[in-house]
Amino acid sequence: MEKKLAGKVALVTGASRGIGQKIAQELALQGARVVVNYASSSRRAEEVVSEIRKNGGEALAIQADVSKVGEVEHLFEKTLEAFGRIDILVNNAGVMITKPIAEMTEEDFDQLFAINVKGTYFACQQAALHMSEKGRIINFSTSVAGQMFPGYSVYAATKGAVEQITRQLAKELVPKGITINAVAPGPVNTELFTADKTEEQIRAVGSMNSFGRLAEPEDISQVVLFLAGAESQWVTGQTLRVNGGFI
Ligand code: NAP
Repeated sequence: MEKKLAGKVALVTGASRGIGQKIAQELALQGARVVVNYASSSRRAEEVVSEIRKNGGEALAIQADVSKVGEVEHLFEKTLEAFGRIDILVNNAGVMITKPIAEMTEEDFDQLFAINVKGTYFACQQAALHMSEKGRIINFSTSVAGQMFPGYSVYAATKGAVEQITRQLAKELVPKGITINAVAPGPVNTELFTADKTEEQIRAVGSMNSFGRLAEPEDISQVVLFLAGAESQWVTGQTLRVNGGFI
């Protein structure tokens, strides 16, 4: 039986670890050829590629800091050079800095907006220019855009911007049949969430959703797979809150 994404080319930003790694693996299992983008974790990105190849898939790791427009352009050039087309863009790369407003610096603010918003926007621009008809763009928001935790103001603002960009671009991209949606996960068991927390804090936040456990990357990647496939053709401009009932 032909795989669901056979013949498609997918670019996943920030796929060296965490949710992006799982998305890249799942897209490849469904037959897509996958670009595994990373910023600095070259060894981990190559491991993701090796794993995909071991399972019979095709993948390539490409370094690019998505906060730099020139590097985003280069990422798309390299993808087209290697695979000849691009059908699916997952703007997963992101960083989180949480601090009370009194401690937030200009540098923190600029870094958050440069990676989470500028990175997403200019990757969407490249997709608008180069993506095949009926392409799919999946952006990343967060449930804290709707759950007001202290310290999350700037991070949540970047994701609010991503949600608005997603809604706006849905209209602009229709002529090419491209859909664009966002997923907004609740807390997920990755370094982004666990890095600055104690075991107890992780357990406490994990128990705040309806299932009483922390999400794993596959809880999110399954929804991204749906949005990346043909079945989601009538879904565009939406944000799917994938959080086990967290909000
Ligand atoms: P993660 O485990 O920290 O992984 C982040 C990924 O992004 C890594 O592959 C990293 O590459 C890449 N990255 C960071 N800065 C980059 C840049 N400037 N250019 C290119 N790649 C860059 O994060 P995650 O938890 O999987 O998060 C993935 C997405 O989900 C993010 O957008 C995040 O905001 C969102 N999200 C996460 C959670 C959660 O609880 N985990 C909840 C809601 C939303 P390197 O390895 O090379 O640094």
